[in-house]
Amino acid sequence: MQPEPQPLNSPEDVEAIRRVIRQGGNPLVDTDVPRWEDQVGVSRIVNRRVVEIEPLPTPAQVLADMPLSETAQRVVVESRDAIRGVLHGRDDRLLVIVGPCSVHDPRAALDYARRLSALNGELKDELLIVMRVYFEKPRTTVGWKGLINDPDIDGSHNIRKGLLLARRVLLGVLDEGVPAATEFLEPTSPQYIADAVSWGAIGARNTESQIHRQLASGLSMPIGFKNATDGSVKAAINGCYAAAQQHGFFGVDHLGRACVVETLGNPDCHVVLRGSSHGPNYDAGSIAAAMAEARAEMPEGSAAVCGLVVDCSHGNSGKDERRQADVVRELAARIAAGEPGIAGLMMESFIEGGNQPAGPLDTLVYGRSITDRCISWPDTEALLRDLARAVAARRS
Ligand code: PEP
Ligand code: MN
Repeated sequence: MQPEPQPLNSPEDVEAIRRVIRQGGNPLVDTDVPRWEDQVGVSRIVNRRVVEIEPLPTPAQVLADMPLSETAQRVVVESRDAIRGVLHGRDDRLLVIVGPCSVHDPRAALDYARRLSALNGELKDELLIVMRVYFEKPRTTVGWKGLINDPDIDGSHNIRKGLLLARRVLLGVLDEGVPAATEFLEPTSPQYIADAVSWGAIGARNTESQIHRQLASGLSMPIGFKNATDGSVKAAINGCYAAAQQHGFFGVDHLGRACVVETLGNPDCHVVLRGSSHGPNYDAGSIAAAMAEARAEMPEGSAAVCGLVVDCSHGNSGKDERRQADVVRELAARIAAGEPGIAGLMMESFIEGGNQPAGPLDTLVYGRSITDRCISWPDTEALLRDLARAVAARRS
């Protein structure tokens, strides 16, 4: 009779594996730690390059331990509805998704959320402000992959810590009354944080990915599909189309069990123009062309036929924060003049302008991005006021 498979390595086993790695050895060869693969007779075949599989707490456990407050629940429900209202053209405010390229310092993220909350009191009749609270960074090659993957910014990849920290940041932002936007990158992490998110992005590198389109089809908030890094807007429209359909796919449930997920489809997906390696695409011609293409492919009643979001950073500004501010000002003037199609804007902004190389928190300048260059807080405040004036002018 086959022995019962044992779950996973004990802490002592894991330490033995780590010791060998620290000494530059290969734990598959240099330890006699018993492996699950041995018990089912496949130890020479599978997981030849996997050192360790460490279980995480289940999504149900994490959500029970760190629940949304009453305030946070209200912020999420009301802001999701409000974002849908803007995207479907029922609300004539401008959606503004603004905040750092990535969150690396929870204290600075909450400091930023408080500033946004204070300004929101003044601008809320013209702007629907949502904070970028991005924890998962897709890299063109390699680099720091965000707070969830490496919260200590030192290559130690303490994902358990990062996941809980990310959720704590989201709860803090919501308790300031500020709704949160994020990029969904890993297919299982949304189970741990998506209840706290009001707008989601599928990034330029994943807009063609079936896995991400399926994910978007089941997410409870509006999702923006970025144009591809080579500039293809068609890829983003195809993403919206696929995500609007029903899907069945592999996933995990609230108890972390592998399962089949069946979704209804998401009618609130839309295009985000972010420029490309070939240059910007925020000009009126590019916006009109993208809208015409979206209307040709997407059914009536979907957000994508009403408007799109323009990302003023990334390929639209060569990731230069001064050019990004120029793009925002140009779009404000065009919005004031009544240009159709622009439902929202995205800006990369933090407390300090620019960026700095990534490193452990105690080596960093407070409030400055460690990924893409950001517009400083004083400049952000001025730009948000410009945008609010533009919306008021468009109304009159
Ligand atoms: C981002 O929003 O920081 C980002 C990585 O965007 P994109 O997918 O457009 O490169
Ligand atoms: Mn960025």
